[in-house]
Amino acid sequence: GLSIGIVGLPNVGKSTLFNALLGAAQAAAANYPFCTIEPNVGVVPVPDARLDALSALFKPKKTTPTTLEFVDIAGLVAGASKGEGLGNQFLANIREVDAIAHVLRCFEDPDVVHVAGKVDPRGDRDVVETELMLKDLDSVEKKRERALKNTKAAGKAGELAKLEVAALDRVKAGLEAGTPVRAQPLSDDDRAAVKDLFLLTSKPVLYIANVDESQLGKEATDPSILAVKALADAEGAPMVEISGKVESELVELAPPERAEYLASLGLEEPGLHRLVHAGYRLLGLMTYFTSGEDECRAWTVRQGSRAPQAAGVIHTDFEKGFIKAEVIRIEDLLELKTEAACREKGKLRIEGKDYVVQDGDVMHFRFNV
Ligand code: GDP
Repeated sequence: GLSIGIVGLPNVGKSTLFNALLGAAQAAAANYPFCTIEPNVGVVPVPDARLDALSALFKPKKTTPTTLEFVDIAGLVAGASKGEGLGNQFLANIREVDAIAHVLRCFEDPDVVHVAGKVDPRGDRDVVETELMLKDLDSVEKKRERALKNTKAAGKAGELAKLEVAALDRVKAGLEAGTPVRAQPLSDDDRAAVKDLFLLTSKPVLYIANVDESQLGKEATDPSILAVKALADAEGAPMVEISGKVESELVELAPPERAEYLASLGLEEPGLHRLVHAGYRLLGLMTYFTSGEDECRAWTVRQGSRAPQAAGVIHTDFEKGFIKAEVIRIEDLLELKTEAACREKGKLRIEGKDYVVQDGDVMHFRFNV
């Protein structure tokens, strides 16, 4: 599956947040199996009220949400790109994730040392981004050197190498001007030239404003939260305001007490839910469902996936032998209560291999084995 790396300077609350996510996964694990892959990787259920409603309707033996993977990437400090503080290892971990959740400290706490001496989300963000850009610059320069040697080759190979050097030069100039790769106006050829480098600043980013309980709901006035909002807006990135500390307390509570605590904070749902949903959207993912007496289940596909690819998420044989799909909108199924009723009202469609799956489709696949 796709994964999101939690990054940020030390003492901004990454581990607290990650442990809250793990707590949510463990609480869910009572109902269905979850695996722990590595200590810093959490496979977190994607909360979905539609699945809950489907499950309440069908009362299946098992209800299985879809999941999203979070990776706790600790240890990023100024100088990481030059190998300081085990920097290279942490940067290598970032290379493996598909998107970045950048935690920015907004909470004040004299007992928690701030690496830069004061709460400054904008400054913190620039420190981290600079390290990532320096590392990318390093990767691009190395590749450019190799490509430069190839320009001496005869004929077509030499010509292609020249084009590659030109593309790498453009990315390099952008980085030198302080523009992360994700914000550079690159052509398809430019992108192709750096694709194999998995550049750190080419990954989509969302910002997490980690706040204290006392700052919750103050997004219109709190200067730190406003600073995060401004920098997120400036690059069109999503932002999630969350209190890691509150979240870590929430996951410890039984559902009734949790609801009470949430209400006392003036929150409608745990911040973790918003975080998971924001990450899911950032990765361009969506959900379709399968339902039956044995199991109701949510599945993840990339937006724009066609029916056979969606079937392939369940089993590769489903994709290979795909014949057609029966599709019902989940709203229709929840309203009309049975598949038979949906069929009768013309709400069940038969779709072929070119059908583009929509978020909220309930699908039943027919396939050859
Ligand atoms: P990391 O180094 O980024 O992983 O940060 P940690 O999660 O280890 O947090 C560093 C310290 O800050 C710990 O003592 C946490 O209890 C504390 N902390 C984390 N989030 C909050 C918060 O929202 N408010 C306050 N006051 N402290 C927090």
